[in-house]
Amino acid sequence: MLGNMMAKPLLISDLIEHAERSNPKSEIVSRRCEGDIHRYTMHDAANRSRKLANALTKLGAKSSDRIATLAWNNYRHFELYFGVSGIGSVLHTINPRLFPEQLVYIINHAEDRWIFVDLTFVPLLESIKDQIPNVEGFVIMTDEATMPTTSLDNVICYETLIQDESNQFEWPEFDENTAASLCYTSGTTGNPKGVLYSHRSTLIHAMSEVSREALGISSVTCMLPVVPMFHVNAWGVPYAAAMTGAKLVFPGPGMDGASLWELIDSEQPDLLLGVPTVWLMLLNHMDDIGKTLDSVESVVVGGSAAPLSMIKKFDQVHNAFLIHAWGMTEMSPIGTSNAKTAAMENMPLEERYKLQQKQGKPVFGVEMKIVDDNGQPQPHDGIAFGRLLVRGPWIIKQYYKSDDMSNFEDGWLDTGDVATIDENNYLGIVDRSKDVIKSGGEWISSIDLENAAVGHDDIVEACVIGVAHEKWDERPILLAIRKPGSAVSGKDVQNFLADKIAKFWMPDEVLFVENLPHTATGKLLKIDLRKEYHDYLMNK
Ligand code: AMP
Repeated sequence: MLGNMMAKPLLISDLIEHAERSNPKSEIVSRRCEGDIHRYTMHDAANRSRKLANALTKLGAKSSDRIATLAWNNYRHFELYFGVSGIGSVLHTINPRLFPEQLVYIINHAEDRWIFVDLTFVPLLESIKDQIPNVEGFVIMTDEATMPTTSLDNVICYETLIQDESNQFEWPEFDENTAASLCYTSGTTGNPKGVLYSHRSTLIHAMSEVSREALGISSVTCMLPVVPMFHVNAWGVPYAAAMTGAKLVFPGPGMDGASLWELIDSEQPDLLLGVPTVWLMLLNHMDDIGKTLDSVESVVVGGSAAPLSMIKKFDQVHNAFLIHAWGMTEMSPIGTSNAKTAAMENMPLEERYKLQQKQGKPVFGVEMKIVDDNGQPQPHDGIAFGRLLVRGPWIIKQYYKSDDMSNFEDGWLDTGDVATIDENNYLGIVDRSKDVIKSGGEWISSIDLENAAVGHDDIVEACVIGVAHEKWDERPILLAIRKPGSAVSGKDVQNFLADKIAKFWMPDEVLFVENLPHTATGKLLKIDLRKEYHDYLMNK
């Protein structure tokens, strides 16, 4: 027997209409590529999203057409989130940090019809325009006054495109499982893979994400998503803002410490969201100017593990709680959140910090298990570790236009992460399965070692890789970037690590380097380093 409830589809257009009805005055503040600060309301955003929907319809955009963006976090990008998906087209948010050949690959693979582009990225598109012949035209996200001269063909100015359109639009109703947006992973090997989100997955992800147990977003929240709108839809927070009426502060191209502080100082956000490298830059800047982040209550950190030193600094210097979260592009992205609990309030501080280093508990909707190489489930005791498998209604079941099912097992996604789960269901990410170091049959977490190393005041960034070893098969070596002017030695770093890690984890070598390679989403790219240093210890 089926229930008697309405099967009204969950659609992204409902979000912007709801936002306008319930929270028309909620503010959206953006640092623009043009250089100034722009502010308007949810009501304005809804009007302009409908104008955009009319304009896109006139351009001939149809259901399932892919319309791409190459843009920072800003209000026009926000309008595209609703205007494109709302008419049934698919919003493809392109990561401009991908290598040019990867950009060409994904634009052609997605069969993008139009690309909406911020001023910053016009030269990037010009450099690859001959390799993306199927794109019909480009919309430059600015007004007539600041339109650049460009060698791109068939170019329209965004403000001109929407200016004479009506702000009335009847959003179409369709199946909630219709594709809404597309994001490519920035994998470390092979071509990027497409993750195609649906209206349904996007809305229920947002409903879960706003809860107190996840990110705690509500109408009184003022949030600064530094996580880019081209990286898993800025973790879904633009949708969450429309759902709740939270104020949004978009940093645009200004992701350095000084620019972020300027916005934080003027807009007083209480919730910040981004990857650890961004917070490292902000914390260093705050040290330099000797000020504190007084408005900030919580900082959501995901994408890479949050080091203990960062958890402590936010707490002790800025009185801000670091919410450690874990997820992936394939998961829309939220899997777990380490939100503050009542138990944490009464915990000894060091114990709480230790718990905060874990990636948190699954939010409702996400199921997880860890298995060994034979697929046998491992105990949830916080010690046993295994391959982390997940399933849930906002988790991918197949990559876009791909029949490679190697990451999918009996309805579960193999995340490629190695993890522990403890008796309270807290997840601890040990490593990427490709990065974990196997030394004499024992496993060493490169992430834990890196996080311990950046706790040293003179180390800016650390990268640990396993290299070949005669006796132990593999041993860890640490590549580190020193603070400018520092003379810290490898021995100093090893002494610093001595009481923080198990003895057999100690890196055999500490080498200082000028730069470390990163993926397009800012994660350490270890594949080439592993090749380069493979025989380093053998040849010594
Ligand atoms: P992406 O799809 O680019 O968001 O990358 C997802 C991957 O980033 C995950 O599978 C993890 O390996 C890593 N990751 C994300 N969040 C965390 C975290 N809090 N701690 C450690 N690794 C993380």
